[in-house]
Amino acid sequence: MSISKSQRKRRDNLFKQHPYCHWCKCKLVHPKFTKPGQPQPDNMATLDHLRNKLDFNRTEPNTENQVRTVLSCKKCNEERCAESIKTLSKEETWARPRSYPLSIMSGEFDE
Ligand SMILES: [Zn+2]
Repeated sequence: MSISKSQRKRRDNLFKQHPYCHWCKCKLVHPKFTKPGQPQPDNMATLDHLRNKLDFNRTEPNTENQVRTVLSCKKCNEERCAESIKTLSKEETWARPRSYPLSIMSGEFDE
């Protein structure tokens, strides 16, 4: 899955300020330093949502300008994603909005 321009900008800004994983505090590598065709390193910087990926409320307008995204290493991002899917019942997984299919994992690729 590729990320939008604004998400990429947000990620780059966060990276400039503090290039560490929000969850495990490891030092992050910017995706532009990863080689195409090579496996992405576990500590590659990804943009992670503080709200559960499957939270319906995530698409609510962000009126208070809350911080909703943090930098996460690829490993934590993937683990969190896997965890959140595990907690869902079968019915719930079917009830996801189309814009957030469960196949969305955290992998992102810069061209
Ligand atoms: Zn981490």
